[in-house]
Amino acid sequence: MDIIFATNNLNKVKEIQSFVSNNLNFITLEEAGITEAIEEPYETFRENAWAKASYVYQKTGKACFAEDSGIVVPALGGAPGVLSARYAGAHGDDKANNAKLLSELKDITDRYAYYKAVICLVLNKDEVYYFEGECRGSIADRGAGTGGFGYDPLFIPEGYDRTFGELGMEVKKQVSHRSAAVSKLVEFLNTIQ
Ligand code: IMP
Repeated sequence: MDIIFATNNLNKVKEIQSFVSNNLNFITLEEAGITEAIEEPYETFRENAWAKASYVYQKTGKACFAEDSGIVVPALGGAPGVLSARYAGAHGDDKANNAKLLSELKDITDRYAYYKAVICLVLNKDEVYYFEGECRGSIADRGAGTGGFGYDPLFIPEGYDRTFGELGMEVKKQVSHRSAAVSKLVEFLNTIQ
C-alpha cells in the first residue's frame, strides 16, 4: 500500500522506516510533489497533525498520515509543547532549543517531562484516525550524547539513567513516543491492507 508520510523531517522518516517491517510503501512529501511548508497553527499536537495530513490529502487525493510531536515540561506550564521545533525562535535549531530549555529550568527542581507524538491518518474524506504515544522521563542538568535529534541529549527516559542521546536508537525504538504511536498506526494499517 502506498501512503504519503507528510513530513519534511528526515529524522522522523528514518525513524519510522526503521520501525516498519511490512510492505508499506512510504512516499515522502517531496516525492508527492509538495514542496511548500505546511502550516501548524494550532495549540494541540492533534490539531496540527490533522492540519498537515488533511492538507496533503486534499492536494493529492492519496492516503496520507502526518505526525506532530514535541516535548512537554509541566513545570514550565507545558512548554515547549507544540512550539518544540521553534522554542528558541528559528525552526529546527536544536542547539538553541536545548540551551533555552536548560536555562528555563535553571532554578527548577521538578525536571519531569514527556515526549508526545500524535499521528493523524487520512484515508479518505470520511475516514480520519488518530494514534498517540507518550514517553515519560526527565530533563538532565546538561546535554549528553550525540544520538537521536532535537531534545534527545537532554531527555532521560523513565527507567534509565542516561539520555536518549547516549542510549541510542535501539532503546529509543523500544520506548519512544513516536514508536508507540507508529506501532498503533502500523497495527491499524495491517488490518486494512
Ligand atoms: P514538529 O516537526 O513540529 O512535529 O516538531 C517536533 C519537534 O519536537 C522536533 O523538532 C524536536 O524539537 C521535538 N521532538 C519531537 N520528537 C522528538 C524526539 O524523538 N527526540 C527529540 N526531539 C523531539
